[in-house]
Amino acid sequence: MDAEDMGADLEQVLFSEEQIQARLGELAADIWADYQDKNVLLVGVLKGAVVVMADLMRALPGTAEMDWMAVSSYGSGTKSSGVVRILKDLDTDITGRHVLIVEDIIDSGLTLSWIRSNLDSRHPASVEICTLLRKPEAAKVEIDVRYVGFDIPNAFVVGYGLDFAEKYRNLRVVGTLAPHVYS
Ligand code: 5GP
Ligand code: MG
Ligand code: MG
Repeated sequence: MDAEDMGADLEQVLFSEEQIQARLGELAADIWADYQDKNVLLVGVLKGAVVVMADLMRALPGTAEMDWMAVSSYGSGTKSSGVVRILKDLDTDITGRHVLIVEDIIDSGLTLSWIRSNLDSRHPASVEICTLLRKPEAAKVEIDVRYVGFDIPNAFVVGYGLDFAEKYRNLRVVGTLAPHVYS
């Protein structure tokens, strides 16, 4: 599948490359204002957050450390259950550290809510969340998210790290999938 085919599989582009980069620049400025003296540890959740992490951290005006977790959510298909298993844990001891979780999207919020309480139990100095996308209508638990790129309607989106069956993560835009792709 070439780039043109990948673009043709979209029904609608929600955010262009320029819009995403501009918003990440604003978030990076806010984050830096809050963390410049705190030696922040950025924690990404694999795999979806790879692209936002790469661009967000390079938009920061100073250096920051990075680490990764991989989790799997028990439950069938696309629905998240809130019961989570750690597939890859952090390499970093976060005791006393200021942690900023970097996410691609918050849907039900169940996965992230579990990750946050897991990290909280390790006695960090603080844990906050930054997500590029959030679906307020899909929320099943309330989570306090300090930095949000864009709130979006409750639709399945791909691109900019987000996949459908492991594809489309490398699209530079975020969009909804055309029905011919999944039906
Ligand atoms: P939650 O636990 O918030 O329901 O789901 C979190 C994970 O589900 C996200 O990190 C992401 O991997 C996946 N997810 C949720 N909504 C979407 C979506 O619209 N598109 C894609 N590609 N993945 C999604
Ligand atoms: Mg994610
Ligand atoms: Mg996925």
